[in-house]
Amino acid sequence: MTPTTNAREFERARHAMPGGVNSPVRAFGSVGTTPRFYVSAKGPRVTDVEGREYVDLVGSWGPAILGHAHPAVVEAVREAATHGLGFGASTPGETALAEHVEARIERDGVRPVEKLRLVSTGTEATMTAIRLARGATGRDLIVKFAGHYHGHSDGLLAEAGSGVATLAMPGSAGVPAPIAAQTLVIAYNDLDAVREVFAVHGAEIAAVIVEAAPANMGIVPPRHGFNAALADIAHAHGALLIVDEVLTGFRVGPAGWYGEDPVPFAADLLTFGKVIGGGLPLAALGGSTDIMNLLAPLGPVYQAGTLSGNPVAVAAGRATLENLDAAAYARIERASTAIADAASAALSAEGVTHVLQRAGSLFSFQFAAEAPHDYDTVKAQEAFRYPPFFRAMLEHGVSLPPSVFEAWFVSASHDDGAVSQILEALPHAARAAAAA
Ligand code: PMP
Repeated sequence: MTPTTNAREFERARHAMPGGVNSPVRAFGSVGTTPRFYVSAKGPRVTDVEGREYVDLVGSWGPAILGHAHPAVVEAVREAATHGLGFGASTPGETALAEHVEARIERDGVRPVEKLRLVSTGTEATMTAIRLARGATGRDLIVKFAGHYHGHSDGLLAEAGSGVATLAMPGSAGVPAPIAAQTLVIAYNDLDAVREVFAVHGAEIAAVIVEAAPANMGIVPPRHGFNAALADIAHAHGALLIVDEVLTGFRVGPAGWYGEDPVPFAADLLTFGKVIGGGLPLAALGGSTDIMNLLAPLGPVYQAGTLSGNPVAVAAGRATLENLDAAAYARIERASTAIADAASAALSAEGVTHVLQRAGSLFSFQFAAEAPHDYDTVKAQEAFRYPPFFRAMLEHGVSLPPSVFEAWFVSASHDDGAVSQILEALPHAARAAAAA
C-alpha cells in the first residue's frame, strides 16, 4: 500500500466532495492549514493517515465524552449490531433510553421531559421542536439569538454561530425570504431586547429558542437568571421556551445545563444530541406530555424518520449515559480546569489579551479584554490570533476545534498523560498567538 498524506487525501476529497468535506468547518478554512484525515481514535487521542497521533480536544464535537472507542460503548454497539442494524419498528431499547432521559433530567423534583421522541440529528430535534411549538400555539414567529446555532434547518440559519459564524455568513442562500421572515433575531443576554420583541410581536410568537449555555460563538454564559427570565417573559405572552441542550446536555452535568444553571428555569421543550448518541447519529426532543402528545400519531404535528431510534445508535447512547457517572463528571471537570487554567496562564505569560469563558466543564478563549456577552462582542475580538495558536497546537500534537467560535471538548479519558501533553504544547501556541 502506498503511504498517503493528509494533503493527498484532501486533494482527492476535493475532487469527490464539495470543499472535500461533509460538514464545512472540517475543511480547516479559517485556520489556514491542511485538514487532518483520521483513521482511528482511542481514549483522548486520534491518529491521522500519516500515523501522527494527537491529543484530541474536539471529541467528535461532543459525543466522545467518555473518550474515543470506550470499551463499554464499542461492546454495546457490537452486541446490538449482531442482532440487526435496524428494523424500522420499535425496540425495547428505545423505551429504556427514553425512561433514562426522563428520569435523569430532574431538578428539585421537577422533570420537564415527560415524553421523549428520538430523531437522528440535532438539526432534526430543533426543527421538530419548532414545528411542535407552532402546532401547540397556532402561531408562526420564532425568536432566536444572534450567534446561537441550532442546526441547519431553514428557519434557524439567520446569524447563526458555529460554522456559519466561522465562514462569516449572515445566513444561507436558498432560504426563502418568507421563511427567514418568520425568525426574529435579537441580541443575546439582553432582556430588554426580549421584552421589546414580545411587546411588538407577542401575540404572534410561538417560541423562543435558546442555547442553554451558548457554545457556538465560543462559550458565552447566560447572565445570572437569564434563562429563567426568558421563560417568564415567553410564558406571559403565551409562547413556549425551547431550550437547546444538543451541546450542553449530559455534558455539563447529569441533567445538562437544566440541572446546573445557578437560577433554575422552566423549559417547555428541550433538545438533545451529541452525547445522547455516544458517537452515532441520535438526537431527541422532549417536553411535557401535553405538548409532546401533539406529535403524530397522537396529534396533528407530523414528524418521522427511517433511522429514528436506530437500535445500534440507541445502544451506543445508553452505554454512554450509563457510564457517565459522578466519577466521570469529576474527571472531566478536573481535566477541563487544568487545561483551561494552563492555557490562560500561557497566554498571559506572552501578554496575549484574552478571556477564559466557562459554562461548567465547557470552556473557550476569546481574544478580548472584556468577556464577550453577545455575538457583536464576540465578533469584535482579535480572532486573527486563533489560527496561529491552533496551528502551533497541532504541530505539537494537540487537535483543537478549527475555529475560534467553538468550545474545547474535554472527555473523561483525558488523564494526566494527555493533560500534560496539552500543557507542554500551550507555551508554543501562546507565543504564536502573541506574534500574530
Ligand atoms: N444545536 C446545538 C446547540 C448544536 O451545538 C448543534 C451542533 N453543533 C446542533 C443544534 C445541530 O446538531 P447536528 O449537527 O447534530 O444537526
